[in-house]
Amino acid sequence: MLLLIPGPVTTADAVKKALAQDYAPWDNDFRAIVRKLCVDIREAAGGAPETHVALPLSGSGHFALEAAVRTFVPRTGKILIPATGAYAARLQRLASEAGRTVVTIPVGTRERVAPARLAEALCDDPRITHVGLVYSETGSGICHDVPTLAQVAGDLGRRVIVDAVSAFGALPLDVSALPAVDAVILTSNKCLEGPPGAAFAVCRIDRLEASHGNAGSWSLDLADIHEHGKTNNGGARFTPPAPTLAALSVAMDLYRQEGRAMRLARYTANQRVLYEGVMALGLTPYLPPDLQGPIIVNVESPTTPGWTLQGFVDALKARGFVISNFYNTEQPTFRVGCIGAITPADMARAVDAMRQALTLAPIAA
Ligand SMILES: *Cc1c(COP(=O)(O)O)cnc(C)c1O
Repeated sequence: MLLLIPGPVTTADAVKKALAQDYAPWDNDFRAIVRKLCVDIREAAGGAPETHVALPLSGSGHFALEAAVRTFVPRTGKILIPATGAYAARLQRLASEAGRTVVTIPVGTRERVAPARLAEALCDDPRITHVGLVYSETGSGICHDVPTLAQVAGDLGRRVIVDAVSAFGALPLDVSALPAVDAVILTSNKCLEGPPGAAFAVCRIDRLEASHGNAGSWSLDLADIHEHGKTNNGGARFTPPAPTLAALSVAMDLYRQEGRAMRLARYTANQRVLYEGVMALGLTPYLPPDLQGPIIVNVESPTTPGWTLQGFVDALKARGFVISNFYNTEQPTFRVGCIGAITPADMARAVDAMRQALTLAPIAA
């Protein structure tokens, strides 16, 4: 069965194998695995050891996003989060429930955030301290120009938190060139092709040291995780998802072998086979080609009488492919992930399964 969802993704056999073991999280061998993993992730973000650190946090991406907001946005601060779609809305909600003041700028559902529009909003409201940016908006599939937007925010004296959860490891990102970025958030189970359960924040060390006591939550305090990490050699504060971290360290070896640019090229090839394939089936992708990102493709639901998303999902599953059984667009779509340990040949087989699911009677499961 191949997972064609925007995380968790299909993993390589070597990654799955690492899960089939028990690990003692505070054992010295395991600490060494975690230390190396954090170095690998910091390096993948372009961070130098003097300025940046990658901090692990148990849980899903939202836990680390909330931790970043709590740690870095002052309690009296204000965060601007452009309304790029479903994932920006989630970031807005968790920031506001963490007690921070949230403001937004509207962004069309088929539109990238315009740097000039961001600059204007920041000039209009000097009380905005932070900008929260979603790199790959998983709701629609659009990727925003986060490096440029972070530069704009930095030039206007604002700090930035990047939700790179569905982008990290594929889209280019170099924190050493973006001093305004306090934290970049990612997880184990998207473009790094590991299993779910671990999130990471790549943070500026100077900002961590300046943020002690701000989080208002021990569990979600990145400054405290950093402090603890300085003396504990890779030992976690609380029980970490040890098998996930061990398997991710195997996935990072595969990542280094492939390289970020080649991984992006593979995902882009997956996306093109899918995009052109569904068009050849007479279906309409949600985004035009120039806005379509490489991570996830939404396709407008067929108007064929009797077609249901769950029926389609079940028919594909019977043929070996799992796609999302919900969507995050304002109109009905089906969404297919292009990421994970899959190739354009897998995508071509998935498109063929879609053709069968659209034209043939249901097959027995
Ligand atoms: C997957 C994802 C998240 C995190 O989702 P979790 O279910 O909490 O891991 C956050 N932002 C984006 C853009 C994502 O794609």
